[in-house]
Amino acid sequence: MNTPVLQTPITYLKGVGPHRAETLQSELGIATYQDLINLFPNRYIDRTQYYKINQLQRSNADVQIIGKIIHIKTVEQKRGKRLVATFVDETGEMELVWFRGQKWIRENLKLNTPYVIFGRCNWYNGKFSMPHPDMELFDEHQKGLKIGMQPIYPSTEKLSNKGITNRVINKMMQQLFLETKGRFSETLSDKILSELQLLPKSESLLNIHFPKNQELLAKAQFRLKFEELFYIQLQLISKKLVRKQKIKGFNFDQVGHRFNTFYRDHLPFELTNAQKRVIKEIRADLGSNAQMNRLLQGDVGSGKTIVALMIMLLAIDNGFQACLMAPTEILAQQHHNGIKELLDNTGVTCELLTGSVKKSARRPIHEQLESGELHILIGTHAVLEDKVRFKNLGLAIVDEQHRFGVAQRSKLWHKNEVPPHVLVMTATPIPRTLAMSLYGDLDISVIDELPPGRKPIKTVHRYDSNRLKVFHFIRNEIKKGRQIYVVYPLIQESEALDYKDLMDGYESIVRDFPLPDYQISIVHGKMKPADKDYEMERFVRGETHIMVATTVIEVGVNVPNASVMIIESAERFGLSQLHQLRGRVGRGADQSYCILMTGHKLSSEAKTRLETMVRTNDGFEIAEVDLKLRGPGDLMGTQQSGILNLKIADIVKDNDILKTARHYAIQILKNDSYLEQSDNRIIRHTYMQLVKHKNIWTYIS
Ligand code: ADP
Ligand code: MG
Repeated sequence: MNTPVLQTPITYLKGVGPHRAETLQSELGIATYQDLINLFPNRYIDRTQYYKINQLQRSNADVQIIGKIIHIKTVEQKRGKRLVATFVDETGEMELVWFRGQKWIRENLKLNTPYVIFGRCNWYNGKFSMPHPDMELFDEHQKGLKIGMQPIYPSTEKLSNKGITNRVINKMMQQLFLETKGRFSETLSDKILSELQLLPKSESLLNIHFPKNQELLAKAQFRLKFEELFYIQLQLISKKLVRKQKIKGFNFDQVGHRFNTFYRDHLPFELTNAQKRVIKEIRADLGSNAQMNRLLQGDVGSGKTIVALMIMLLAIDNGFQACLMAPTEILAQQHHNGIKELLDNTGVTCELLTGSVKKSARRPIHEQLESGELHILIGTHAVLEDKVRFKNLGLAIVDEQHRFGVAQRSKLWHKNEVPPHVLVMTATPIPRTLAMSLYGDLDISVIDELPPGRKPIKTVHRYDSNRLKVFHFIRNEIKKGRQIYVVYPLIQESEALDYKDLMDGYESIVRDFPLPDYQISIVHGKMKPADKDYEMERFVRGETHIMVATTVIEVGVNVPNASVMIIESAERFGLSQLHQLRGRVGRGADQSYCILMTGHKLSSEAKTRLETMVRTNDGFEIAEVDLKLRGPGDLMGTQQSGILNLKIADIVKDNDILKTARHYAIQILKNDSYLEQSDNRIIRHTYMQLVKHKNIWTYIS
């Protein structure tokens, strides 16, 4: 069936009048034949498989089991009677339960006779039970074996209220196959079909809606998932290629004396292999004539700053300026201090520009930037102001990306006629699968190794009732000269209560750690920025022992002497936030600790989060768990979740298919960027159709 016919409005389908069409459109977004054919079942009821009782899972799938009833009784309960039968097979026993129609059932059920039961199991009182099972005598069942797998389509309350039940959708689907004779044009090339041994399109669609058996269903699913992921990757990757061809970048072909001298004489430590590899990857970009757009991921403490600095030296060696932007004043200051120290005696100039730099101090910075005297500018958003003009900005580095919007990044671009190379650094690990989908058009480098000699942070989970012991532990650490963070959650919905918790906590700490022996800082969002900075700085300078705070300290702050992170109400934090907070300690030579405080009541998801934190320090492993717990949409925020509204594939579960799809998309575009070769005709055609009919994920703007 060719595409124009598939664009037929759904009202033309026999059995779909204007009313139904309207409901289909509003509830499921179905407007055309094509949309209906792409409505894929959520699940299938499988009447071809039999389960043993000991194979049952606590899932919500319907199952069928062969066994016999050995006992039946009526149980009296407060709200009426129920009928309970003991059902056994050779592997175990379970219960069948009826709340209605008990008399008839009791009279008609046969004891010790093989039955096939079908339905959804509950786990109750340490046993599986099936309420109101579908039952059939095994003999009868064998005679009538005809229904295979029954598809269950997505539904909504409104759909069922308007009578568009699963059965009705199934009927419509049959009608659609009848009218189109089940012939649909192929959308993948012969080469891909044969190499991956994929089912043809028509057969896939037939088996997704009317599966003949498990095997064909699996093949149909594989093919359709592959196709979906393939076209998304094709779009992402071709976008990247086009950008690389269209947007020329500065060519940094020199590895000059500044880079080399620094490497030889000023590097305070040996680079890790991961750092070396990443620098190489970035250098390749910078010499490729195209503008670099790279994401550098590295867990907290993995040493991104030194990588940033060395790349900036490359820019300077090639006659350009560089800038480094951080999301907060404190972070910018820390970068400035650290980098200035590293640049001592190198002749490379570096200045700091933030909101609080005085006007009089700004003027010389502006002048030196325009004259080219100043090599490196470090700062906050202040760097983006129009007044800030570079002589020739060649490289912009953005630290802690998730605090910067895309709009701000693009503002950086417009500081030059030719856009500078852009390196975005983030300490929030993004699982590879997700990165491939969301940032498929960016290049990605990963520092997956920590500098040697780091002591892994010890993480424990403690209940509130053990607070005295925790305080005792803190006292000992302070005696050893260490500093402590105590962090409280703060979320908008419960702001007032959260502030109360914070202040109560602060007061109890002040009581237990009194002046003059102990100095306590507090920092939260209701304070004036100047007061916040003042308190932060006291802690950074080591003048206070304990910092009580809300999550304002989450990003980047570096106090190597702080060795204990206590997170209050830890069950209320997400995994990535917990991991970020923990990363504030473990920056010095001493053993560091993270203590997760909670009450006794914990949801199972909260337990998983806490267990994960206790088990591992690996940010990527944590990100994978987070992805599984929350799903991709939630993880990336609502703004980006649209990207993951896939029709059939699942970014987490279909990771392998995603990799294959990406591989094919890359190979094809490498040889034929504009899909002009005859081999790729079908792909080109399908791609154009998808774009035209907005059936391709318009989110990738
Ligand atoms: P992050 O990736 O979190 O920004 P930093 O760049 O702040 O990490 O580095 C954390 C600490 O590790 C710094 O004190 C830095 O000097 C140190 N460091 C970085 N690279 C190495 C290395 N290869 N060997 C030893 N120490 C290193
Ligand atoms: Mg950093």
